[in-house]
Amino acid sequence: MAPLDVKPNELEPYWIPFTANRAFKKRPRIFSGAKGMHYFKPDGAKVIDATSGLFCVNAGHCREPIVKAIQEMAAKLDYAPAFQYGHPKVFELASRLSLLAPGDLDYAFFSNSGSEAVDTALKLALAYHKAKGEGARTRLIGRERGYHGIGFGGISVGGMVANRKQFGNMLAGVDHLQSTYDRSKQAFTKGEPEWGAHLADELTRLVNLHDASTIAAVIVEPVSGSTGILPPPKGYLKKLREITAQHGILLIFDEVITGFGRLGHCFASERYGVEPDMITFAKGVTNAAVPMAGVLASKKIYDAFMTGPEHMVELFHGYTYSGHPLAAAAALATLDIYKDEGLFERAKELEPVFADAMMSLKGEPNVADIRTVGLLAGIDLDSLPGKPGVRGYEATERMYHDLDIYVRVAMDTLIVAPPLISTEADIADIRDRIAKVLKAVV
Ligand code: PLP
Repeated sequence: MAPLDVKPNELEPYWIPFTANRAFKKRPRIFSGAKGMHYFKPDGAKVIDATSGLFCVNAGHCREPIVKAIQEMAAKLDYAPAFQYGHPKVFELASRLSLLAPGDLDYAFFSNSGSEAVDTALKLALAYHKAKGEGARTRLIGRERGYHGIGFGGISVGGMVANRKQFGNMLAGVDHLQSTYDRSKQAFTKGEPEWGAHLADELTRLVNLHDASTIAAVIVEPVSGSTGILPPPKGYLKKLREITAQHGILLIFDEVITGFGRLGHCFASERYGVEPDMITFAKGVTNAAVPMAGVLASKKIYDAFMTGPEHMVELFHGYTYSGHPLAAAAALATLDIYKDEGLFERAKELEPVFADAMMSLKGEPNVADIRTVGLLAGIDLDSLPGKPGVRGYEATERMYHDLDIYVRVAMDTLIVAPPLISTEADIADIRDRIAKVLKAVV
C-alpha cells in the first residue's frame, strides 16, 4: 500500500459506470465546473447542458441558495443517525413533499438513489400485502423498455435488455407488460400518442394468467425515460389504474425522471390525472446537488404497518443515509427555488416551444423518429448497418470535443431534457447544435 501522501491522478483506476471505459480513457470527456445552463471543460470552454446532467439538475447548475444551504448544514449537523433518531430538516422535507404529492401519498421514505427508491417501493408492496394477510401476492409486474435503476429489484421489473442480460436470474415471479411504443403508429408525435391505450389491457391478460391473488404491484415510468422517451398513449395510465384498483394490485409510478417539473407539474401523476399508490422520486428533489431519493406512499400503505407493539420497528428497511441532513437541506432549498421561480409552470409554458424546436429536426440526416413530452425529447437515429451504437458514440464524442453541447446518448438515441430555467434562446441554441451533431455523424 502506498503512503497516504502519494497523490497519483491516473485515469485507469476509476471504473466508470455505464461507460465505454477503454474508449473514454483514450479520449476523456471531463467537466470541471458548471453554472446555470452550462458545464465548463478544464480549458474553460462552455458546453450547453441539454440533458440537465442526467435529468436531474432541473433548476440549473450550482444555484447559490442550494450551495449555501448545504454549506450551512455541513457546518451545523454533518450527520444524524437515520434509525431511531431524527433531525428537524428531514421532517420539514417530508411534510413539504406530502403537500406536493397527489392525493393521500402523505408518507415519505428516503433513500439515496432512484435504484434504492425502486427497491424500497417493491419491498413496501410485498410487505404491505403480507401485513394485510395476503402474503401470496408476491408477483411484480414491470414493462418492456422500462428503466427502474440497477438494483436487483429494478433490473428484474425493468425491461432494458442490456441491463439484464449480464446478471443471471434476478427476482423470481416477475412479469412484464408490452412496451407502449410502436413506431409504425406513433412516429414523430408531439406529446402523448393517440394510439396505444389498449395496450393496458395486457394487464388483464396477466391477471387472468397469474390470478390477482398472486400479484403485488405494477411498476411503470409514466414516461419511459432512459430507453429514449416514450410518452404514454392517451388514456393508457388511467386504464392501468382502473385495472390495478379493480384487482387490489398496487400501482407504482417511477417518477425519478418525471418528478419535479419535467412534465410541467410537480409529478406526472398530476399531468395524467392518475393517482398511484406509490411514487418513487430522486434526481430533481435536490437538483442533484446531494444524492437523495425516496418513496411517497399512501396513507393506506403506511397505516397497514402501524400495528403491533409500539416499541417495535414496523418496517425492517432503511439506509444509513436515509434523509441525510445535507440532502434534506439541499432539497428544501431546491423546492424553494421551484416555487419562487415558478419553474414547473415555466416548463409547461416552454413545452410547445421545445416540442416545435425538436420536431424541426425531422429531415436531418438519419433521423428515424422524434418524440417529445414536457421538457423531454428522444431523437432516434438509424444505426449504421450492423453497428448499433457506433453513430451514437460518435455523436457523444463530436458533441464534447467539437460542438460544445452535452446530450445524453443511449445507443443511437439522443435524449434531450434541458433545465427548466432554459430560455427560448437556449432551446434554439440546443436545437441548432443538435442539427450540427446530426450532420456531423452521417
Ligand atoms: N428509475 C428511473 C425512472 C430512472 O430514470 C432512474 C435513473 O435514471 C432510476 C430509477 C435509478 O436512479 P439512480 O441512478 O439514482 O439509482
